Amino acid sequence: MIPVTDRIRQSLVSLHMARALETLDQTLSQLERGEISAIEAIDALLAEELNLREGRRIGVALRTARLMPIKTLESFDFSFQPSLDRNRIMALAQLEFIKRAEVLHFLGPPGTGKSHLATAIGVAAVKAGRSVYRCSLAELIEALTKAEREGRLGEKIRFYARASLLIVDEIGYLPITSGGANLFFQLVNARYEKGAMILTSNRGFAEWGEIFGDPVVATALLDRLLHHAVVVQIEGASYRLRHHADLIPEHTRSHATITPPPPPKRRGRPPKNGGAHHMHG
Ligand code: ADP
Ligand code: MG
Repeated sequence: MIPVTDRIRQSLVSLHMARALETLDQTLSQLERGEISAIEAIDALLAEELNLREGRRIGVALRTARLMPIKTLESFDFSFQPSLDRNRIMALAQLEFIKRAEVLHFLGPPGTGKSHLATAIGVAAVKAGRSVYRCSLAELIEALTKAEREGRLGEKIRFYARASLLIVDEIGYLPITSGGANLFFQLVNARYEKGAMILTSNRGFAEWGEIFGDPVVATALLDRLLHHAVVVQIEGASYRLRHHADLIPEHTRSHATITPPPPPKRRGRPPKNGGAHHMHG
């Protein structure tokens, strides 16, 4: 007759529970020494296996989501950015906005932590089991343009529409062609009221006509992207340049506020200037 411990070993092999198998001997000897109860032994084995798998899942998901290098809210120094309401960011990291398929905007000058915060919330979402994908607007438009050229646009839009959170970083750094703006609009339309987004930009909404090279498309984009939206505006100094204050010309020292959004369109209310505001159409 096979001893019970050998049978457990075989079962763990068949179930591909490598980590539990690895810790079995140690757990059994603790059990023999009377250091733990049988129920604690079962608990320890399962917890070891689960921890390993969860860690592996998160690692794979973070890479797939393109959230490397990882940023966290714990590593964000809120005292450096006093215009930012820490409680508000922590509330957003509870991820209810993802369930409500809302759009979260981070606006502010370069180096104020927009990408850091967007990534950190993305990391929190991955840990909570949400599917996330991050890219810059330029990468997104390049991929859509390529897909369109190859006759795979529908497929590509479905790919970008699939994640429950899509992070589009760096809106406003590079000008977009009207073809590119059109492709971005198609994607935004596909996600509208279905999936959450985080957008980061160094430019105010009033400048979107200029960024997207077409005021009509920009208006249509903003119409959807501000309908169920949270706007967090950061007004502060660049963290990148924090040790080089003397090298920065006075006029770029980032009190430069971002132009407020244009007046209300068909629906929704735009945010007032400064701070974060909830808008529900
Ligand atoms: P932005 O996207 O607004 O231009 P980033 O989020 O990329 O700025 O920030 C630039 C660098 O500074 C990143 O490495 C980021 O992790 C770091 N950083 C920015 N703000 C903070 C902060 N308040 N605390 C800690 N690190 C920060
Ligand atoms: Mg950035």
